[in-house]
Amino acid sequence: MSQYRVPVVWSPDTRLHDPGHEVWVGVTTAATEVAARVDVILETLRDAGHRLVEADGSGDEVLESVHDAGLLAFLRTAHERWLQGPYGDLVGQDRVVPYLFPTPAMTDGLPTRAAVTVHAEAGRYAYDTMTLVGPGTWRAARAAAGCASYAASLVGTGERTAYALCRPPGHHATRAGFGGSCYLNNAAVAAEALRRGGAAKVGIVDLDAHHGNGTAAVFYERGDVLYGSVHVDPGAGWFPHVVGYADETGSGDGQGATRNLPLPPGTGDEAWLGAVRDLAEWTSGSCDALVVSLGVDAARDDPESPLLVSQEGYRAAGSLLGGTGLPAVVVQEGGYHLPTLGGLVAAYLAGHAAG
Ligand SMILES: [Zn+2]
Repeated sequence: MSQYRVPVVWSPDTRLHDPGHEVWVGVTTAATEVAARVDVILETLRDAGHRLVEADGSGDEVLESVHDAGLLAFLRTAHERWLQGPYGDLVGQDRVVPYLFPTPAMTDGLPTRAAVTVHAEAGRYAYDTMTLVGPGTWRAARAAAGCASYAASLVGTGERTAYALCRPPGHHATRAGFGGSCYLNNAAVAAEALRRGGAAKVGIVDLDAHHGNGTAAVFYERGDVLYGSVHVDPGAGWFPHVVGYADETGSGDGQGATRNLPLPPGTGDEAWLGAVRDLAEWTSGSCDALVVSLGVDAARDDPESPLLVSQEGYRAAGSLLGGTGLPAVVVQEGGYHLPTLGGLVAAYLAGHAAG
């Protein structure tokens, strides 16, 4: 039996985002979400015989339906505005970093206005200090979202499964906010594109080690897109800390359309796959298309999470989700251990294609 060759949708522009560094607990640290991720995945999938397809640059209308216009305008212009400011000369900072966050702790019910400086305005859209905006960030994030919508269009025209090599990742980006190394929500774009392409109900299964707070928020009140996630328990002290708990189940029309399955640090294949099986059964029962948020940072070697999933575990997750028989867009999320990253993605796709 010959293996199904999954189309790998990618764009050279996704290499243009160079985070340079992060600021974590006030200290400058090396970036982990680096452009080399694109190349190790691309090379491994090419060697595994999958078909590389360059995205066609379309998809901006879907992007605009997912995200607030203010966020899009900010990301498009922020770095240019930063360069016009004094930040390089004053402190040597060449990336956009927020300076304050106008949360209720600051505004406390007062009427508020947009800040006039970019270092103050940044905190209106950024919710952490780890997700800096550099010269190529907008083009890369937009290209990643374009990969997601193009992959959805391939599935809409009869492809059984398509993989979108999205980078930077997306599942932490909310409608009007960015953080967690994510700027635009690629999985939400894929789900929305599948809906527009005729799918009545789309299921999103998020395998990234961290809860996809952005995707969850975008669809929390909608019944036409299910969101299910297996991730390290935020209550054990992991990102995104304040959301991602099991009792968050959706609201309004979306009541019951969200499922969070948090797992303790140290969890390995057996319990993790049990949760993936639950989510596969949950979505296959009522959805007619699937989006998989394929974060491979739950793997044992990954420096960004304490989960201990093996490469075989990712292959088995692929066969569970591929076994649903649903047309699927697989969207790349996290995964930061460069020596094993390509192999984990390839193992997932091999399982999904065979499932
Ligand atoms: Zn993650």
